[in-house]
Amino acid sequence: MAIGLYIHVPFCVRKCLYCDFTSYPYHPLDDQTYLQALRQEMHLYGKILSSEEWEVSSLYIGGGTPTCLPADGLAAIIEDAGCVFKLLPGCEITVEANPGTISREGLARLAAAGVNRLSIGVQSFHDRLLKVLGRIHDARTALEAVRAARKAGFDNINIDLIFGIPGQSAGDWLETLGLAVELSPEHISLYGLQLEAGTPLEQAVSLGKLAPCPEELELFMYMTAIDFFTGHCYEHYEISNFARPGRQSVHNLKYWLNLPYLGLGAGAHSCFRGERFANETSLKLYFDKVFRGEYPVKDREVISEKIAMSEFMFLGMRLIRGVDLDLFHRRFGKRAEDVYSSQINRLLEQGMIEARDGCLRLSEKGLPVANRVFCEFL
Ligand code: SF4
Repeated sequence: MAIGLYIHVPFCVRKCLYCDFTSYPYHPLDDQTYLQALRQEMHLYGKILSSEEWEVSSLYIGGGTPTCLPADGLAAIIEDAGCVFKLLPGCEITVEANPGTISREGLARLAAAGVNRLSIGVQSFHDRLLKVLGRIHDARTALEAVRAARKAGFDNINIDLIFGIPGQSAGDWLETLGLAVELSPEHISLYGLQLEAGTPLEQAVSLGKLAPCPEELELFMYMTAIDFFTGHCYEHYEISNFARPGRQSVHNLKYWLNLPYLGLGAGAHSCFRGERFANETSLKLYFDKVFRGEYPVKDREVISEKIAMSEFMFLGMRLIRGVDLDLFHRRFGKRAEDVYSSQINRLLEQGMIEARDGCLRLSEKGLPVANRVFCEFL
């Protein structure tokens, strides 16, 4: 089966105030070393891959901020990937883009390099909320970025939106939803803001400088978005994701369907050959290992059958169509209804999940408390 290839670019112009991802301030001098390390890491895998593992049906360049790098650098990553792996015809090639780092020329270069999907971190259409988040762009720049991507010929665009921002009102959110739909992206991803411990935003809230978004308002925003987007011909296909027909994210579906993907770059994660592993997050350690000819892996965990079944259940339930029970049986040789009989019966009785078309899925009641449902399968 063809794999998904993820390439992490751990650089950002400036750290956003809510972010706890692995990212480092971008410096142009880092480019060449990083590209060389990625190339080296690709070759390490190129030596051991079977012909099946070698085939790639989705390539996702994420970050950080991949568009910190010059477009030529991103084009070089795609070219290198194409030399080591077999990018299948129609391979979905996504680049994450921050509106503050997009130029017309850069977009044209990415399109010429084969990028056929852009994921733009819009987050909000309100300048004051973008300031609260510490984003490097304003709302106008975000709007222009999406329009510029369209003009550059991209016909598969995702925009990310965040709800639950301190100070964000229901009215702000409704306006954001309206503007998002006006731009007519093929895909929309929602993120409920998490106040991650130790981030400047979390500290501002802890110190009472900012009021957190009330839980009821956050729930209202989530449920309103579902109604709004489905009312505008978007399919709600995953808890937080919406797509026009045929525009679901090929790459992200691999995560939710528990299919293999290989992550390259500092801090990248993989699910490959029955193991989950994560690369070194420190650039120094990543470079040291790769240039010594070693896999730059930091943590490795063998996925036992028990873990694999549990992941299959809670990741699959993120999909609105739910967990395919027949697929579970074919993959594990056991019926999910037997392995998880008490959990499934309890959740069915509570009305949190429902059985439909051979799948078990979150019910309307279970959707807003999905994490509680997932915990049953851990
Ligand atoms: S652009 Fe993304 S990865 Fe970079 S600091 Fe902001 S949220 Fe974090």
